[in-house]
Amino acid sequence: MIDFNRAPFVGKELDYMKQAIDNAKLCGDGPFTKKCSALMQEAFKVNHVLLTTSCTHALEMAAFLCDLQPGDEVIMPAYTFVSTGDAFVLQGAKIVFVDVNPKTMNIDETKIEAAITDRTKVIVPVHYAGVACEMDAIMDLAARYNLKVVEDAAQGVNAYYKGKALGTIGDFGCFSFHETKNYTMGEGGALLFQDDRYIEKAEILREKGTNRSKFFRGQIDKYTWVGYGSSYLPGELNAAYLFAQLEELETINRKRTDIFNYYHEHLAPLEEKGLIERPFIPENRVHNGHMYYIKVRDLEVRTKLIAWMKEKGVHCVFHYIPLHTAPAGLKYGRFHGEDVYTTRESERLMRLPMYYSLSMEDVKYVTDCLLSYTGY
Ligand SMILES: *Cc1c(COP(=O)(O)O)cnc(C)c1O
Repeated sequence: MIDFNRAPFVGKELDYMKQAIDNAKLCGDGPFTKKCSALMQEAFKVNHVLLTTSCTHALEMAAFLCDLQPGDEVIMPAYTFVSTGDAFVLQGAKIVFVDVNPKTMNIDETKIEAAITDRTKVIVPVHYAGVACEMDAIMDLAARYNLKVVEDAAQGVNAYYKGKALGTIGDFGCFSFHETKNYTMGEGGALLFQDDRYIEKAEILREKGTNRSKFFRGQIDKYTWVGYGSSYLPGELNAAYLFAQLEELETINRKRTDIFNYYHEHLAPLEEKGLIERPFIPENRVHNGHMYYIKVRDLEVRTKLIAWMKEKGVHCVFHYIPLHTAPAGLKYGRFHGEDVYTTRESERLMRLPMYYSLSMEDVKYVTDCLLSYTGY
């Protein structure tokens, strides 16, 4: 069976984990956590990177740092993972969903302005499949209406928009290092931001409401409870695993984009015959091979194709029941405008196996299966 995903392992993970064990320091913010942050600050040109226990938690931190009041509104696509919504619901916000652009499955930036009210505080672009949203238009709207922008860059690590790393463009960016993402630590994430004025509040929030980070830097002589906080810092074993992956940022990226390019090139004939649609990468974007998907005619074709691929020994998946149709989405949110594409396109989309250790022979096999299928 060709799996849909396998956690990447590039080589030095165990050495680094052993170093952490030998240091006998396994709690958060040790040497490997610092190395991960420093590496990302440098690679992605961003002033602050706080490693977290998940992207969900990074989103929660970002939502908290946006200073929302109950009833404030947050605009996002309905085609996303539940955490994008949950993080803001936790702050008492109302979620306003906007339709996606079917070409990228990203939020349709031309439909955001009409959804803005005097309660709107935040826009949350989700960089689906590691392909950037139209950030110039979104940042421009945010400036005009005095809104914050939180980038859900869970899938966008090491992908770029006009030369800027995803996650570094808005007020906050959130990365995921879950095992299904390009770089992993099992479960983990990071909160990114440029502006120094967030650092103190962010550190307090992440360190159980204490000013412990300042204490460790020697800026104060004892630490105490100074505000609301939780525990959002991962342990050193996880950070050690991640550091080995981040050192191989380009190796992992190259393999994934090779797989992407193989699928893309060899499935072109199916698109030319009008049987499927392939992903579209707009100009000025550098994607990271996070995902390869195809779109088939409708839900019925997709269901049959997934079952047929399974018989051939290939695990393909779909995902994201649009949030506005889910029970919690109905309770906490509303869809602004018409759902022209979100539901329809989500039902047609099928993801192909994509992971670092996937062999090119297996990629060819998956492609050949799709080329020989006659039920489109
Ligand atoms: C994976 C993912 C998340 C959640 O990441 P975790 O690290 O598992 O919390 C959030 N948003 C999007 C778009 C994702 O793909």
